[in-house]
Amino acid sequence: MNSSATSIDVAAAEDHLMRFLSVEGVTGQEAAIAAAVSDALQKAGVPASAIRFDEVNKRIPVPTETGNLIVDLPGTRPGPRLLFSTHLDTVPLCAGAKPRREGDRIVSDGTTALGGDNRTGCAILVVLAETLLKHNLPHPPITLLFTVREESGLHGARELDPADLGGAVMCINVDGQDPNDLIVGAVGQENWDVEIRGKASHAGVAPERGISATLVGAVALAEAKREGREARRPGHEQCRDLRRQGGQGRGRRNERRDRLRFHQGRGKKSDIGLRHGDREGIRKRVSEGTQRGEGS
Ligand SMILES: [Zn+2]
Repeated sequence: MNSSATSIDVAAAEDHLMRFLSVEGVTGQEAAIAAAVSDALQKAGVPASAIRFDEVNKRIPVPTETGNLIVDLPGTRPGPRLLFSTHLDTVPLCAGAKPRREGDRIVSDGTTALGGDNRTGCAILVVLAETLLKHNLPHPPITLLFTVREESGLHGARELDPADLGGAVMCINVDGQDPNDLIVGAVGQENWDVEIRGKASHAGVAPERGISATLVGAVALAEAKREGREARRPGHEQCRDLRRQGGQGRGRRNERRDRLRFHQGRGKKSDIGLRHGDREGIRKRVSEGTQRGEGS
């Protein structure tokens, strides 16, 4: 069949997202959002017997309300099992979020963060199941995985028992940024710590004799930002923690900062640049990945 003729019910997708954004579920407290996702899946036609929780919360070393939510969709055609994953939790800043529509955007009321990370992922996976079932689309066996405690250390994924995933040969993880971007491989992290030592001098007496560590740091950060802008994928440079060292204490407030430390965290990923509507590109990538999985 021609799957490009299948349209996604955008209004229903937005309704799922609005509902999930309004359910509180900060990291470690995912029972309510897991119940909301499970409810939406059942309304979409997924039998309750296909929805289960693992026991990851018994292994996670910090209090966690529930295990990972796992859904098994039997294949309607033969093929290796595919895994789609996302995470249920939000950062604590999203507690009590009240999402509302503002033009073509969904925003919070300003008193909390919104929680798009990662209720967007939850909505996408529910829409995936809903669309497959509604249009009877042929598909191989699929596992949906909604993990807990991602935001506080990837615990749900880290402590997961791979045997619970039914032998999936490849995973598409939905988290962050534009769901139309597909990123393959090379996920990693690069961290560095820098300490800049300037030269102290009183700002009101002899500022020209001092070297401001803060200003040197600012120049360095500006350069890092410019480098990021020139790279293909802008915006992944984030100065996570800017801490001024030295110059602390009331008596030294007017002094040029003579020492500055900051820590830089930089995510790395390789983006194959698929855009919305590039169904053939996505299909090719999935098929290549599946074949790799089968061959391994
Ligand atoms: Zn996330």
